[in-house]
Amino acid sequence: MYDILIKNGTVIDGTGNVGRKLDVGVEKDRIVEVAAKIPEAKGRVVIDAKDKFVTPGFIDIQNHSDSYFTLFDQPQQSSLLAQGITSIVVGNCGSSLAPLASLESIKTIQKWHDLAGVNINWVTFGEFVQCLSQKNLGVNVLSLVGHATVRRGLLKDSVRPAQMEEMRVMKKLVDKSLDEGAVGLSMGLIYAHEVNSSEEELKLLVSSLKPRRKFLSIHLRSEASHILEAVDEAIDLATASDVALKISHLKVRGQKNWHLFDHVLNKLEIAYHQGLKISFDVYPYDSSWSVLYTYLPKWAYEAGRAEILRHSSAAADRRKILDYLKSSGQNYGQIVIATAENNPGFVGKTLAQIASNQGVSVEEAMLNTITACRAQVVVFDHNLSDEQVELLVFSPLSIIASDGAGYEKESQNLVHPRCFGAMPKFLRMVREKKTVSWEMAIKKLTMEPAGLLNLKDRGKIAKNTMADIVVFDPVTVTDLVDYEHPYKFPLGIETVLINGKIAFADNKPAGLFGKMIGI
Ligand SMILES: [Zn+2]
Repeated sequence: MYDILIKNGTVIDGTGNVGRKLDVGVEKDRIVEVAAKIPEAKGRVVIDAKDKFVTPGFIDIQNHSDSYFTLFDQPQQSSLLAQGITSIVVGNCGSSLAPLASLESIKTIQKWHDLAGVNINWVTFGEFVQCLSQKNLGVNVLSLVGHATVRRGLLKDSVRPAQMEEMRVMKKLVDKSLDEGAVGLSMGLIYAHEVNSSEEELKLLVSSLKPRRKFLSIHLRSEASHILEAVDEAIDLATASDVALKISHLKVRGQKNWHLFDHVLNKLEIAYHQGLKISFDVYPYDSSWSVLYTYLPKWAYEAGRAEILRHSSAAADRRKILDYLKSSGQNYGQIVIATAENNPGFVGKTLAQIASNQGVSVEEAMLNTITACRAQVVVFDHNLSDEQVELLVFSPLSIIASDGAGYEKESQNLVHPRCFGAMPKFLRMVREKKTVSWEMAIKKLTMEPAGLLNLKDRGKIAKNTMADIVVFDPVTVTDLVDYEHPYKFPLGIETVLINGKIAFADNKPAGLFGKMIGI
């Protein structure tokens, strides 16, 4: 007898192989049989998947549920589970929740989440894994170790190049974290506490990865006018240490930079053909969800939050910043405030609306908002080209990821629709655009990320793999969210199994079944 038997569906196994009508038997937490006809009597619970696709659970390799802290205050992570996501990778963009070399380490997440009420009872990466392993979670969780977390733990709030001795200690912390379960190293080179890292420092840290067969995940130093140099930097780093590279949420921000897109893709393809294991993740939306202070000139934000606030208020600096913003040729008026710490009145407004309310220019409104919210402002910006997003989504080098966080309840802030809709929107695009086969599309959600993570027993449907499974309707599957109404489950994701249990069915979670996975 099998605990669960999924019958009559088309199995798309995640490897890229052609879908076939097969039945899938699950016992305890594993898939134990995949065969043409398994008698119905063999299943204690039988799921009829007629006219449905049966695929591995989706692996969201670029996720921020840790830095937005919802992993702790909304552990069910329903918005992810409802999309068919069964595993997430956190610790992205340079910020992980461990190791914590000092009290300052955790501050790397405060650009996304207020630290008030955050309760931490671990220090090392191993203790973090141990602590999360004792928690019931709605999805499986893996984590990278973040460069900014390690760096800030040592350099505290000062922003400067690290000294040799500090680099050596950082390397030890990275080594130890990788040995204690981190799946790779992440960097967020655009952010204040990493922007001053030397090439020597970055190379030293990346050299920890190869002996452990782990990968490098990079949020590029620039996604706008300096993106070509930023891509070169990432490729050079990975090539020098011969490690697999995944660029996070690849995009070219700002219409005046869109002409760089072809050059970016070219560089990646050349690196791939020269033998570098290179990939990128992408979310299928034309707007970014970013920290507002990263729009300022580098000198104004590189010294951290207190200095950002000082520069935004001091008359001479303020004038310099305004000149920079005005001469950038970018339209900031369309930027929408999604999260405004302690100022819910700003949420949902564009900078143009705030400017008009305050009787100031859009650029001044930006600085006023940053000051009022103590530099904790997250925004939506429709600054990406639809056509380019589509090319990235269907590129042979792409993995589809949400770059979002898991939510189970609405709040006064707006979340990016990708938190509820990334995977189903991608599946809808696959159906409508017919650019890639269903088999290649599913691989981008399953085997591709599993391969990078070295996850041997997830990401495919085969005998003896873990039973993380999605049953969805290829004809109806779609997202149902937009920027004003981001809190809605998608359509067509019918059943989700995590670790052999039905975790989502009838459009609601059954009540957790994920777990922390250290590798
Ligand atoms: Zn990022």
